[in-house]
Amino acid sequence: MSRSDVIPDVIPVSAFSDNYIWTIRDSKCAAVVDPGDARPVLDYLKREKLELVAILNTHHHADHVGGNAELLGHFKVPVFGPHDPRIPEVTQRLADGERMILPHFELAFEVLEIPGHTRSHIAFYGAGMLFCGDTLFAAGCGRLFEGTPQQMHDSLTRLARLPDATRVYCGHEYTLANIRFAKAADPDNPALCKLESRAQQLRDRDLPTLPSDIGQEKATNPFLRCSDPGVIAAASGHAGRRLSDPVSVLAAIREWKNGF
Ligand code: ZN
Ligand code: FE
Repeated sequence: MSRSDVIPDVIPVSAFSDNYIWTIRDSKCAAVVDPGDARPVLDYLKREKLELVAILNTHHHADHVGGNAELLGHFKVPVFGPHDPRIPEVTQRLADGERMILPHFELAFEVLEIPGHTRSHIAFYGAGMLFCGDTLFAAGCGRLFEGTPQQMHDSLTRLARLPDATRVYCGHEYTLANIRFAKAADPDNPALCKLESRAQQLRDRDLPTLPSDIGQEKATNPFLRCSDPGVIAAASGHAGRRLSDPVSVLAAIREWKNGF
């Protein structure tokens, strides 16, 4: 068995109130995705006696990149990220369709440009895993800070085409709040109640609800279900006019969620 057949562990390191810094690790080394804060990462690496081998960044927001510089002060490692000067620490800038090999782990990731939350947001997809930052959340999606509903729709549609079993590692623990909204935007979806009780049980034990997977998201995430009659009806009811195309449905439920 070659090294690339071995799926390493992926561990969430918590940061701030609800960020996850996903840490790909084996017994010696670790790579981190979106280290918004260096402190919890350095504590984890020290406690587990791990050496940092790479940093991956999905987008430029401080809660995802704020720890880059301090980590680089401790470990001279490559930083993989988008073409965006707002992340000055990136050493290997990646565009849509490009592949990168994660050092030490020899895992191949494909880069997907998924604008919507920010204009230069990327995801890393490989080994059955998707690191999607703040674009796709369990039962939700990121706010449209720099992108249009059309861009977010296209990005989410692209992610929804990945295999159902793809594990989805999101940047935040927003699942319960997202489900509460999803039940309003997709009121006839029985899968949401089941997901809610599972997620609630995990949160009651202070465990992450993530990773999700693409199959679960297609079944429960209203932002991936903008062509579903139930979501169209709820979005139209909230907007006060008949919405017919999925992009206007996404725009309407994103607006709705902003004030929910
Ligand atoms: Zn963000
Ligand atoms: Fe974030």
